[in-house]
Amino acid sequence: MENERLLKVMQRLEEELITVYRKFHQLPELSNEEFQTTKTLRELLTAVGIRILDLPLATGLVAEIAGDTKGPVVAIRCDIDALPVQEETGLPYQSLNQGKMHACGHDFHMTVILGAAYLLRQRERALAGTVKIIFQPAEETGHGAEAIMQTGVLSDVQAIFGLHSQPHLPVGTIGTCTGPLTAAVDRFELDIIGVGTHAAEPDKGIDPIVVAAHVVTALQTIVSRNINAFDQGLVSVTHIKSGNTWNVIPQSAFLEGTVRTLKAETRKLIPAKIKQISEGIAASFGARAELRWYPGPPATNNTAKWAKLAAQVGEETGYEVREEIPWLGGEDFAYYQEKMPGAFINVGTGQSYAHHHPKFSIDEAAILHSARYFSRLAEQVLLALEKDI
Ligand SMILES: [Zn+2]
Ligand SMILES: [Zn+2]
Repeated sequence: MENERLLKVMQRLEEELITVYRKFHQLPELSNEEFQTTKTLRELLTAVGIRILDLPLATGLVAEIAGDTKGPVVAIRCDIDALPVQEETGLPYQSLNQGKMHACGHDFHMTVILGAAYLLRQRERALAGTVKIIFQPAEETGHGAEAIMQTGVLSDVQAIFGLHSQPHLPVGTIGTCTGPLTAAVDRFELDIIGVGTHAAEPDKGIDPIVVAAHVVTALQTIVSRNINAFDQGLVSVTHIKSGNTWNVIPQSAFLEGTVRTLKAETRKLIPAKIKQISEGIAASFGARAELRWYPGPPATNNTAKWAKLAAQVGEETGYEVREEIPWLGGEDFAYYQEKMPGAFINVGTGQSYAHHHPKFSIDEAAILHSARYFSRLAEQVLLALEKDI
């Protein structure tokens, strides 16, 4: 009887969450413009009596569910922004906002964490501590985590957990690992400054295109010759621009690219080598190279203890748990992990086109299971922290 009742409650919750998911999916908003999304989240949380903290955030919010207020504090975080992508899934609940799409599954993340909040709210009095629930804006542009942290709301958080949808994992599977799960993502720009001249008289100038070609080739030796063979790193020139016609040797060449690393020391080494190689090669041709470096989020860094507990709770809740290998995409959850321990977890959402593709999709069957998982994880982390105190 009790089981039947529980099953019905869960079915109702699943239906409710799928309806909410479709609503989020239909109304995607770009980074720092998540006004409607934030309003909807506020309404949904307030309707079930979940307290929203009063913070100076233009978009996004932090809610709190507190059992034993003298107990430990844990945070679970999701992101809420969408991408400037025109959706092509053909789903009946396809995006209504022209040129905008939840193509990274952040609508799924929000729904899952909202579902976890509902479940935690039902068990509020039994909680061994406080759960802070972060609906973070602007993950795609990489500054949302900093905005949340600047409010000081996480100063008492002892462990933080986050999730990402993963089309490479089937529904019913989660994956995590100790150490980095995603990479530090940095961007660079490089100007090669030569001397322009008539194409018939290259000897009168310094051809920046020839210099740029040498630089691009030489940069590829950084990973193969300067990084330990057991470490990982990636250097890609992804954009080159120079000249505008066939009979002029231009003044300069512009190069742009990205560097992905997992270790702090490798992250420091690569820009130094890019500078040395590009300036050295340019000088050898009589040209000049100017490097500009734009740091992005660092690599995520899962604490062994919490990655293990996340896997254990996964098994207890019926997930198949996989040991993930890191990938070189970025995730601004890493900013939290610079300040506090925690774990980032990949959640299987079934086969789909890649993240950020106009046909990216998630299987709604993953929603309820994930919501139950994150509510249980928060509870278990509180218990583990309580034991440590
Ligand atoms: Zn993304
Ligand atoms: Zn994402």
